[in-house]
Amino acid sequence: MDVYACDVCGYYYDPECGDEENNIAPGTAFGKLPKTWTCPECNASKSEFYRLDPDDWEYEDDEEEGEEDYEEE
Ligand SMILES: [Zn+2]
Repeated sequence: MDVYACDVCGYYYDPECGDEENNIAPGTAFGKLPKTWTCPECNASKSEFYRLDPDDWEYEDDEEEGEEDYEEE
């Protein structure tokens, strides 16, 4: 599934992870997110997101359970 990035703050929506803060279950494709869904980081609407080309998407290869990699403010 495609990863989408927030054009405003750089947040990545990874469908395999879902979005815990907004009660989005893992495995939910970006296109299946509710219209009311907004970026958990900056509240930007879905229209602010763009699809990441998988070739540009470099995922760090560590598998920490229950730990998110991004920093909180
Ligand atoms: Zn954002």
